Amino acid sequence: ADHIRVAIAGYGNLGRGVEAALAQNPDMRLVGVFSRRDSASVTPLDSQVPVYPMSEIETFADDIDVMVLCGGSKTDLPEQGPYLAQFFTTVDSFDTHATVNDYHAALDTPARKAGTVALMSVGWDPGLFSLNRAFGEAVLAEGETYSFWGKGLSQGHSQAVRSVDGVKKGVQYTLPSEDAIARVRRGEQPELSTREKHVRECYVVLEDGADADTVRDTIVNMPHYFADYDTEVHFIDDETFARDHSAMPHGGFVIRSGVTGDGNKQSIEYSLALGSNPEFTASALVAYARAAYRLAQRGESGARTVFDVAPGLLSPKDPAQLRKELL
Ligand code: NAP
Repeated sequence: ADHIRVAIAGYGNLGRGVEAALAQNPDMRLVGVFSRRDSASVTPLDSQVPVYPMSEIETFADDIDVMVLCGGSKTDLPEQGPYLAQFFTTVDSFDTHATVNDYHAALDTPARKAGTVALMSVGWDPGLFSLNRAFGEAVLAEGETYSFWGKGLSQGHSQAVRSVDGVKKGVQYTLPSEDAIARVRRGEQPELSTREKHVRECYVVLEDGADADTVRDTIVNMPHYFADYDTEVHFIDDETFARDHSAMPHGGFVIRSGVTGDGNKQSIEYSLALGSNPEFTASALVAYARAAYRLAQRGESGARTVFDVAPGLLSPKDPAQLRKELL
């Protein structure tokens, strides 16, 4: 085939993002979307894209080169990943750091048996951030690695803000602390707690007649959620809220701060500023879908992570073109 034939398993934020990213990559073609919900209730961005029931997915084994898994990490992927690896080369964005090795083992056995590649935990964290942590540690043997997250929307904390009396609408962003980043960049190699590394910022639309000072006090002193952090509360109107706070931004930094030779400070920094977390994660999934296809074409099989994939395999450019243009 002259196109890599791709399908999407699970159609939420990430699934929509994968559809959009595939449209930007002419060497790949979207064959269809699979969902556990009634097919009629699932509406792809492009109305020409067929939606099939997840229960029939096995019958498409010969029609699809790579299945991009867009289910949730908590309950969907631990079940869908090992099952689908029996039939398809897969890519997923599994992000439960605590159980990565269990998940790797659960994918590896069926993938080896079936001769498929199961490329797990692709995205930005885990994913591109993981790679940059690995580069930093390998190159600067002596040093510290720092990961900062944000500015990012936090669902749980937004919910907590909205539970406060007098709040009509609210969102919460977690931001890296400017002060902490500055210390790391200066090469101080500080020991930082989560609280020291991040600050919280809330945007609130008040109910009619609500008292701003009371609402602010209740939020910043809320145990577990805000009391242990530096929290800023901004009051805005409905229009501003709708205009500026409807997207899902995220991002962050990975910094390796090291020392070489006779005490020369060396610093490596990688940063992401994402207007849409799911669309960016999906874009990474699509680049890695190309790599997974190429690994499977070479006859490889089993579970893989970003550490196992050579960077050139991600690019639509061939090796000679890559050397000429980017080396
Ligand atoms: P989501 O929108 O909640 O979608 C998850 C699944 O829920 C979908 O596959 C879909 O399966 C089902 N679903 C979607 N909309 C639904 C609705 N209206 N009603 C009922 N079910 C619905 O989650 P997401 O935002 O796409 O995120 C998926 C995962 O990506 C997260 O769990 C996270 O672990 C991972 N992630 C990873 C990174 C990274 O950097 N590695 C970054 C961001 C996110 P069906 O179509 O089968 O129903």
